[in-house]
Amino acid sequence: MAEKILPLLRENAAQVDGDATFPEAGLRALRECGLMGLLVPEEHGGLGGDLHDLVDVAGVLASACLSTAMIWAMYCQQVDAVVRFAVPGLAKDLLPRIAAGEVYLASVTTEAGSGGHLMTADASLRSGGEGIAFERLAPIVTGGRYADGFLITMRDGEDTTANKVTLVYAARDQLELETSGEWNPLGMRGTHSEGMRITGTIRPDGVIGPRGGYRTVAVESAIPLAHLAWSACWLGAARSATADVIGLLRSRKRPGSIDLSSDLVSERLARVRMDLELVSAYLRTVCDEITECRTDGRTVDVPSTQIHLNTLKVAAAEHTFRAVDRLVQLCGLSTGYLRTSPIPLERHFRDLRSASLNYANDRLLKANGSLSLVDRGVRLA
Ligand SMILES: Cc1cc2nc3c(=O)[nH]c(=O)nc-3n(C[C@H](O)[C@H](O)[C@H](O)COP(=O)(O)OP(=O)(O)OC[C@H]3O[C@@H](n4cnc5c(N)ncnc54)[C@H](O)[C@@H]3O)c2cc1C
Repeated sequence: MAEKILPLLRENAAQVDGDATFPEAGLRALRECGLMGLLVPEEHGGLGGDLHDLVDVAGVLASACLSTAMIWAMYCQQVDAVVRFAVPGLAKDLLPRIAAGEVYLASVTTEAGSGGHLMTADASLRSGGEGIAFERLAPIVTGGRYADGFLITMRDGEDTTANKVTLVYAARDQLELETSGEWNPLGMRGTHSEGMRITGTIRPDGVIGPRGGYRTVAVESAIPLAHLAWSACWLGAARSATADVIGLLRSRKRPGSIDLSSDLVSERLARVRMDLELVSAYLRTVCDEITECRTDGRTVDVPSTQIHLNTLKVAAAEHTFRAVDRLVQLCGLSTGYLRTSPIPLERHFRDLRSASLNYANDRLLKANGSLSLVDRGVRLA
């Protein structure tokens, strides 16, 4: 299913990167081919896919366009939260429409005040009257302009502490949306992640998970899905870059200065391959671990599992970026660095530079340091 739309994604990747525009044709193709419903249970009309399907599809999509793959991966995070935490009425209304590709959900967690920190929020919900009202400044919302609905983290109330965070679903027609700033980043330009001011009123059944208890949604759904799917996306892009370089090296178009019998070339290729192998194996291992927890109905909120999830994200971000950096060095200026190169290495390089920022690796390493002191048995993945 994913393979079918790759030619379209590949064809548009350079343009959405160059113009920093949203891949509208790619999203349309994803809506039409059924993949927007991958994680929706079959009883609601979806494909009933699991986490292994998620990482497989994310990797395939990223081989053609990392921006489109990340848009889809972040959207799947939102879908999983709805599947697992929406009240039955909302789930019954929303999930069949999600499965049909009618509802692209954008995510609003980052906030100017609390930065990337997931578990705190500044702007608060205001209950009373017809429903729950709010106004939220969101510095970065992937595809916000094209979204049919939003999942937004908010402080639960004006009098509650910043760590009482509530996740709410808001349909586009419940909101007033104002975009702010210009989207002109180094990489991931096709995600079109603008700033937005979001104002609206939702019904009480738009709350996803416990009020003030977003931590549970984050730990059981948003974080595992993010770390698995993002890692799969980054690996898919780095793997495709590697395959392209190997194809070039094995072809008549190989730059004359690259000598395949050179020990230095072999060592560089071996190190690129090692980076990809390590991420791939660790991704599978952590995906199995989270899948087993879900199948057995066990929480993933145990120190060793949290360490594994965080390690996956940090390692995938570092190793995939390093692999592409090494490919740039191996290929040299004209193939590795120029925007006109037949292999989009410089785009992969710019895109993958965002991996360590997209939920800061520093935050995860700090958390893992503290968790390591708690996991006295040192339970490795
Ligand atoms: C392509 C892309 C798409 C995105 N899409 C969305 C989206 O749709 N919706 C959304 O809400 N967000 C989105 N984000 C934002 C993302 O989820 C992160 O929140 C954001 O990248 C973090 O921004 P920051 O580095 O400014 O903030 P911070 O995480 O606050 O970090 C700022 C700096 O402080 C350091 N730092 C912070 N805390 C600590 C700590 N405890 N220990 C050590 N160092 C620390 C960091 O390393 C960094 O140097 C997107 C990001 C990218 C790159």
